[in-house]
Amino acid sequence: MLIRERSKGKTLRQLGQMFGRSHERVRKVLAKYPSRVTLLSENSVAVKLGYPVWWLTKLRKESIINPIKPGGRWLYSEEQVRLIAALIAEARKCQQCSKPRPAGYPRFCRECSQYRRKHKYESLSLEAKAKHAKRCLAWQKANQEKAKKLLSRAHRKSQAEQGRGAMIADDRS
Ligand SMILES: [Zn+2]
Repeated sequence: MLIRERSKGKTLRQLGQMFGRSHERVRKVLAKYPSRVTLLSENSVAVKLGYPVWWLTKLRKESIINPIKPGGRWLYSEEQVRLIAALIAEARKCQQCSKPRPAGYPRFCRECSQYRRKHKYESLSLEAKAKHAKRCLAWQKANQEKAKKLLSRAHRKSQAEQGRGAMIADDRS
């Protein structure tokens, strides 16, 4: 149990608190089973996974991975190493379609951010749409003359479009 928790990356102090022992006591107990817990340095983890080391550093700083640092060096348990790829995939998910997004895209994948740029309003959440409607109403109230002009222009435009549509329909008949 102790070993399993340790291999998940718990510190001696955390283990001590879990089992009601001092971290010194935990260290002694674990020292009896040295071969059962394999801890890997950041460099060897990077080599093993084929990642650049700065990736791991970045993930660690973002608290996406949580290695331990018992003596000045970051150490990873084998279980942590196994989880890294999944953790990266999870952290790099597009917030819209859940597909992985490339680096440099903070929230959405390339397709989704393009779509969102083109269709700003459609991409808003319901909450944001409600907020937008509220802002529009407030603006219309504060700028009644302008709003009237805009409205009549939009009306004329849609009338003209309908008219053109009707003409096309007439031509066809
Ligand atoms: Zn996406």
